[in-house]
Amino acid sequence: MRHPPDRLRNVAFVGHADSGKTSLIEAILHRTGATTRLGSVTAGTTVTDFEPEEKAKQHSFYTAVAHASSEGYGLNLIDTPGYPDFFAEATCSILAADIACIVVNARTGVGLNTRKAWKLASKHGLARMIVVNKMDADNVELDALVAQLQEAFGKRCVWFRRPKGVGAKYAGNEDALAPGSDQREAIVEAAVETDEALMEKYLEQGAISDEELARGILAGCRSGDLVPMVATSALQELGVDDVLEVLRRYMPGPLDAAPRKGVKGEVVRPEGPFLAQVFKVAIGDHGAQNYVRVLSGEATSHGAIVNLSTEGKEERTHDFQRPQGKALEPLDKLVAGDIAIIPKLDTLHTGDTISAPGGAQVVLPRPEVPEPMVSLAVTPKSRADETKLRPALDRLQREDLSFQTARNEETHELIVRGMSTLHLETVLHRMKERTKVEVEHHLPRIAYRETIRARGDARYRHKKQSGGAGEFGEVALRVIPAERGEGFVFANEVVGGAISGSYMPAIEKGIVEAMQEGVVAGFRFVDVRVEVYDGKEHPVDSKEVAFKKAGRGAFRQAVEQAKPALLEPVMLVEITVPEQHTGDIMGDLARRRSQPQGMDQTDDGTVIRALVPEAELQTYSQDLRSMTSGEGVFHMTFDHYEFLPPDKAAPLIAAHRRAAPGE
Ligand code: GDP
Repeated sequence: MRHPPDRLRNVAFVGHADSGKTSLIEAILHRTGATTRLGSVTAGTTVTDFEPEEKAKQHSFYTAVAHASSEGYGLNLIDTPGYPDFFAEATCSILAADIACIVVNARTGVGLNTRKAWKLASKHGLARMIVVNKMDADNVELDALVAQLQEAFGKRCVWFRRPKGVGAKYAGNEDALAPGSDQREAIVEAAVETDEALMEKYLEQGAISDEELARGILAGCRSGDLVPMVATSALQELGVDDVLEVLRRYMPGPLDAAPRKGVKGEVVRPEGPFLAQVFKVAIGDHGAQNYVRVLSGEATSHGAIVNLSTEGKEERTHDFQRPQGKALEPLDKLVAGDIAIIPKLDTLHTGDTISAPGGAQVVLPRPEVPEPMVSLAVTPKSRADETKLRPALDRLQREDLSFQTARNEETHELIVRGMSTLHLETVLHRMKERTKVEVEHHLPRIAYRETIRARGDARYRHKKQSGGAGEFGEVALRVIPAERGEGFVFANEVVGGAISGSYMPAIEKGIVEAMQEGVVAGFRFVDVRVEVYDGKEHPVDSKEVAFKKAGRGAFRQAVEQAKPALLEPVMLVEITVPEQHTGDIMGDLARRRSQPQGMDQTDDGTVIRALVPEAELQTYSQDLRSMTSGEGVFHMTFDHYEFLPPDKAAPLIAAHRRAAPGE
């Protein structure tokens, strides 16, 4: 059944984990007859938590979509994960919605992710409503909760459907808009504020019609000046009809919602040519499922689309699909306002904008997903999986924008990056479940480097006389510290032809090889000038391989005399925390060999910048989380290399000597 766009409601359920988003959607599906049985999170039978790991942990990790019909209206219900570690999914889902339904646990109130969800929804201009769920739970303190909500989000949050009783006595809601209700006046006043004509009428006549009131409320909700609150118990299916009624009567559909804007500020109107945005990609056994929100126009299946974000070529579409959790229903047409799946196209990514060939040219902004904060090195458990690992990781990366993979060419490790260890472990577990590729993980190696702090000089003779042809080469060279970042400078300063020029490339090669392996601790050697100034040849036994070995040997010996030292990578770190944590964070940074780089106050909190050695940051994500109860975020970029203090270098050098004695 298809509903016209003015009768559609696209709702993202956002908020803290455990507030009951999945259960509320389940209750809506049941109340509207979309399901015949109320699914349960604890029994693993809900429509929107269908992935095995979601059932096992009883939490949403991924976005899922379901739909329902309610009194002639179509509802697209988007379930988003509430864990901060999986917030990228929620960030992307917002792209699909016109309405954010912020679900709050009546007992625990406003949580970190409630605030994040609010911020996200307001930034994207979504109309917001608040559902206060778990009204049936013990220890609900309603007045304190309302005070907390209004303190966090303003007096614009007002009861539309107020609970009758709490806890075991909760028996559904009363209509705060009913004539005579003390709340009605406040709502009417907020509603008439949105429209001058309405305000005039109200001031003159002291009343407005229900129709006018509904129009005023819609305008207030759309502008964010009014935020309806509704109480529910999803488990007992109480208040759920009220949520539906508020959605139908007062919340904007695709035609009434604030219009989207392209990256160049172009306004997208629903009546324009076909334009849609991908907000989720799931890759299953039958290829990619690209979840899209249609923003304007229409498209028919078995036609063509183009990806405007990548300027890719035209691609043929198959039947579109409408998701009901995991179940799919074929669709032959997409219309502005629709949320649907474009299956099988492998070139789409989350955030991409698509249009019809020769059609709309507006590219929509991509979701701003949080930066990964944790890195782990992974190795396949079985050697047989080595070739399968990269494609398996690439697939995960396409599905999850906050998961990244890269090979570190310096340490030769395969690195995965994500929001937290829990996030990475969940993603890697998913890989094992789906592709049978299993990995072990550990903290990544730090890419230390070697260099020298003084000059050195050595002469090395390589001579081999075994059986047939011998090998002979002798090289004398100097090593001189070079500027940081200069890498390697090679100079031939031989005068008088002690070594012929044709052997120089072989000598240089020997040195380069020694530099790649490292001399004292097994790390890449950098920032050295090498001057070859003398040597000796043998008329028969001299050959390239001999000079290569002599070059290598001379370099290693010269380095040993030149005060070899280790360099460590230093990162520029930017930490954002609520102001009250600033002191703790600064104190902690001081213990991490950091150099402060300044501090700013922003809307998001205090931003602290510091240069910190990478080695001091390997578990920073967990430490920051515990220092700030999960509210701090940070990101870091490589800044420069600096000398590693000798007391930190010594154990690394000793470990290498033990592992490679005699070198
Ligand atoms: P989500 O993480 O926000 O999607 O929350 P879920 O829907 O997964 O619910 C979290 C837990 O709270 C589950 O154990 C639910 O059974 C329980 N729950 C959800 N809604 C209610 C409710 O209205 N009352 C009570 N008492 N428990 C609820």
